[in-house]
Amino acid sequence: MAEFTMELNDEQKEVRDWLHGFAADVIRPAAAEWDEREETPWPVIQEAAKVGIYSLDFYAQQYFDATGLGIPMAMEELFWGDAGIALSIVGTGLAAVGVLANGTEEQIGTWIPQMYGDANDVKVAAFCSSEPDAGSDVASMRTRAVYDEAKDEWVINGTKTWATNGGIANVHVVVAVVDPELGSKGHASFIVPPGTPGLSQGQKFKKHGIRASHTAEVILDNVRVPGSCLLGGKEKLDERLARARERAKKGGERVKNAAMATFEASRPAVGAMAVGTARAAYEVALEYAQTREQFGRPIIDNQGVAFQLADMRTQIDAARLLVWRASWMAINGKPFTAAEGSMSKLFASETAKKVTAQAIQILGGNGYTREYPVERMHRDAAIYTIFEGTSEIQRLVIARTLSGMPIR
Ligand SMILES: Cc1cc2nc3c(=O)[nH]c(=O)nc-3n(C[C@H](O)[C@H](O)[C@H](O)COP(=O)(O)OP(=O)(O)OC[C@H]3O[C@@H](n4cnc5c(N)ncnc54)[C@H](O)[C@@H]3O)c2cc1C
Repeated sequence: MAEFTMELNDEQKEVRDWLHGFAADVIRPAAAEWDEREETPWPVIQEAAKVGIYSLDFYAQQYFDATGLGIPMAMEELFWGDAGIALSIVGTGLAAVGVLANGTEEQIGTWIPQMYGDANDVKVAAFCSSEPDAGSDVASMRTRAVYDEAKDEWVINGTKTWATNGGIANVHVVVAVVDPELGSKGHASFIVPPGTPGLSQGQKFKKHGIRASHTAEVILDNVRVPGSCLLGGKEKLDERLARARERAKKGGERVKNAAMATFEASRPAVGAMAVGTARAAYEVALEYAQTREQFGRPIIDNQGVAFQLADMRTQIDAARLLVWRASWMAINGKPFTAAEGSMSKLFASETAKKVTAQAIQILGGNGYTREYPVERMHRDAAIYTIFEGTSEIQRLVIARTLSGMPIR
């Protein structure tokens, strides 16, 4: 276990500064344009691929950082640049993690490179779980995968929604029901390879924020994928389903806990994205308050403004500490006895919404226009309390973990 320290080591500082340089020089200057265009910023993703930020190697290196701080640090810097563009850069990672977590070595080696493409021909991937009637309530998922034994193929039918990169992805990872009796324990994940007939993009959503990130429905109409596209393979699935059936008879506690641990480990990354957006807005507000003069003095000279900035910075730092604690716990295999991962995501995402709204207030009329970036940051920040589990769901998880009661 790495020794506890509040300071990043030299290597981490170097990576952080490199990412910050990319965020400041490449991402931030492009942010307003791609927000207005509401399109995937392919040239920026390509730039990120050229320097090695858009690649599995980069995420693997950060992921295996022994302190656990590699991913939160990277997320904070990229999302400091711009949330929409950063999500376009890291969105593929969601699908890649799905394969890394559940796939065989062969599946990892075959599909992950196709998710990223290369610097001359960049590709993206999508992770498709949410459905129109299954958002927070994942167990009510309806997309069905049925095994055709004669052809060793799976046939998938259903409609996914809110998929980041949905329909424009080279590789889609689709979660589907294989045993409806088992609720969320009867789900499995499938690779849908590039160009598979039957998969199409439905509605592309026009969004409030993170508009440089593509979000769309994905329609699966008799999509046939080879047996080898079931992540983890059929034998493992059959064993898992048999265990789940056994446990369902006995109450199912262990399976539920394993799934929860995965979420607790991944949620701090979203918290770190929120910290990045909050910090970006705070920095703009601080500089503005120091330079904007009213009544013959800088507006920061008023406690009413200065105290807001003090609160903003305090909350951002507290959010980062919660994110770092949960990330450190995850890499060291500590049990999340108080749902510390959910706590970090809840606090950081609510902080981002609050801080970006305060930034608009501090910039006055300018804050309310698109001439300044804080209104975009405020629109972007609203996503953090919604995706990867809403704030209400985080509170449910925390309350249930603390009390052991089935709070509703
Ligand atoms: C921009 C964007 C990108 C996304 N990307 C992806 C992606 O790549 N892949 C993917 O699979 N999904 C993705 N999602 C989906 C996202 O995870 C869901 O939107 C989220 O889980 C909430 O589901 P919902 O929208 O159906 O809201 P609902 O579940 O309908 O919730 C509506 C409201 O009711 C509240 N609520 C629901 N149940 C309870 C309860 N038990 N107690 C208290 N309050 C409750 C919620 O907190 C919320 O405030 C994305 C969403 C967005 C907006």
